[in-house]
Amino acid sequence: MRAAEIADQLTDVLVTEEQIRAKLDELARRVEADYDGKELLLVGVLKGAVMVMADFARSLSRPLTMDWMAVSSYGAGTKSSGVVQIRKDLDTDLTDKHVLIVEDIIDSGLTLAWLLDNFASRGAASIEILALLRKPEAAKVEIDCKYVGFDIPTDFVVGYGLDYDEQYRNLRDVAVLAPHVYS
Ligand code: IMP
Ligand code: MG
Repeated sequence: MRAAEIADQLTDVLVTEEQIRAKLDELARRVEADYDGKELLLVGVLKGAVMVMADFARSLSRPLTMDWMAVSSYGAGTKSSGVVQIRKDLDTDLTDKHVLIVEDIIDSGLTLAWLLDNFASRGAASIEILALLRKPEAAKVEIDCKYVGFDIPTDFVVGYGLDYDEQYRNLRDVAVLAPHVYS
């Protein structure tokens, strides 16, 4: 589904599918160089990072392994609760692994801060973050994110994995959800 097909439910299209693909390719070249000769484990944060992970992983011309973590901090609303819960833990032992966390978006940063803290004691050789989107003005905690796709304003966005009440994940572009949809 493209943004134009549901234009009545969106205000601005912030990032198009084409821009996302180009950016993920660019980030993939950097990751290939940075992790040359190292074992790479991509950790996707469900469910929002599914699309980023699928496209980014296939963009990488190198071997890797993937695992998934499911945490929740949002419920059905549009504001971060700051309370993070593990719904599915990793199947992989992180000992001596070079871990790259793949995220859809850094909003308040609370989820990633919590995740980094949680991973810190698991013995990884390195831990870095790749996030397709970041809302710099919404940050409640500073997150050191090495690979950022796009900085965007503090609006609630949907698409490319990002949902509102489980809807819009299959939208190919990233767009601001029209307030009439959730108010
Ligand atoms: P945090 O506020 O950085 O902890 O963001 C936690 C999670 O909330 C992200 O990983 C997303 O899954 C979700 N999220 C944050 N901002 C948005 C948004 O604008 N639209 C949809 N989901 C969002
Ligand atoms: Mg997420």
